[in-house]
Amino acid sequence: MASNTKRIEERSAGAIVFYEEGGVREYLLLKHHRGHWDLPKGNIERGEVPLETAKREVFEETGIKELRFYNGFIKKIEYFYRRKNSLVHKEVIFFLAESFTRKVIISDEHKGYAWLTYNEALELATFKNTKRLIKEAESFIKKYEREK
Ligand code: ATP
Repeated sequence: MASNTKRIEERSAGAIVFYEEGGVREYLLLKHHRGHWDLPKGNIERGEVPLETAKREVFEETGIKELRFYNGFIKKIEYFYRRKNSLVHKEVIFFLAESFTRKVIISDEHKGYAWLTYNEALELATFKNTKRLIKEAESFIKKYEREK
């Protein structure tokens, strides 16, 4: 790392949100202004625990409040990106939640959304780590349903 490159730490939290009806499960992806398709997430504010952030961000970014979070699903991803003269190391904690509505109201941060089947979501998600999270969510839900 060049000596004039600052390293910044960022922490966000978000959720893999799915909706199920008639045996069909769909995952929610949001289209960012810069073009990528991603999960709802945002910066952990001072005094918040990650689950509170995830709930707040899902609400701010999708308008969805009626959610059932799954105990036992908590995953962390990490990545780096450049911002001006800094290298940002980012950690994002993801939870899993079932939505009881399909109605979405996006914020100014995004320019679109989509409810997608598992295969469609894997295809559309831009980042490899997002695809991995969707795979982990699908396995978790299937296991949960087998065992209930
Ligand atoms: P937040 O939603 O947490 O407030 P943000 O919109 O400010 O964050 P990011 O979504 O983290 O910022 O995007 C910052 C940079 O990181 C962008 O260049 C984006 O392309 C890249 N990026 C976003 N998500 C990922 C990811 N899952 N894996 C790798 N790079 C990513």
